[in-house]
Amino acid sequence: MKILIVEDEAKTAKFLKKGFEEAGFVVDVADDGFDGLHLAREVDFDLIILDVMLPGLDGWQVLTRLRQAGRRSLVLLLTARDAIHERVRGFELGADDYLVKPFAFSELLARVRSLLRRGPARQPETLRMADLEIDLLRQRAARAGQRLDLTSKEFSLLTLLARRAGEVLSRTLIAEAVWDMNFDSDTNVVDVNVRRLRAKVDEPFHLKLIHTVRGAGYVMECEQ
Ligand code: CA
Repeated sequence: MKILIVEDEAKTAKFLKKGFEEAGFVVDVADDGFDGLHLAREVDFDLIILDVMLPGLDGWQVLTRLRQAGRRSLVLLLTARDAIHERVRGFELGADDYLVKPFAFSELLARVRSLLRRGPARQPETLRMADLEIDLLRQRAARAGQRLDLTSKEFSLLTLLARRAGEVLSRTLIAEAVWDMNFDSDTNVVDVNVRRLRAKVDEPFHLKLIHTVRGAGYVMECEQ
């Protein structure tokens, strides 16, 4: 089993590497987000242990880009705080598990073993709603068989709405998941991008899929 540890604290990285090697794993280490992402995209790891607080790209960005690139390696996030929104965000971005620092190595090892036994949470490769089709591997979307010309942010936004179809998503949640912004940021960017997305996804078609819920956010659903 081959694992990648993305951790900038040299002492922790060394300690984890030694621990996993003693447990019989083949271990690579990256000490910043750029290297981590590069390795994770080049090499087929069974599992990636990804620290959230990293120089270069942080763990969220690494995870987002990795999933956007269609990489399905198991990812266990190491978070510094046990904030619920961090956990939720991690899972939304496609993490398979998380562990809050500080932790005992035995606990991390147990989590890793159980994740490897369980395998990845099965992710569909195509999301569908009415005549909308989102191909997650090829990063393409089409309506009624007609390819939609989307930017990568628009694609992420559409994917988020489709994955959580039927659920009203707040501007804050969308801003965090798609733009990596925090709670206090100006969420106007969400409105602007939803408008652009609608112009491509909904305007040319009779059936509208993206809806505004006044004072709450946006929802994707097929209204009859
Ligand atoms: Ca760190």
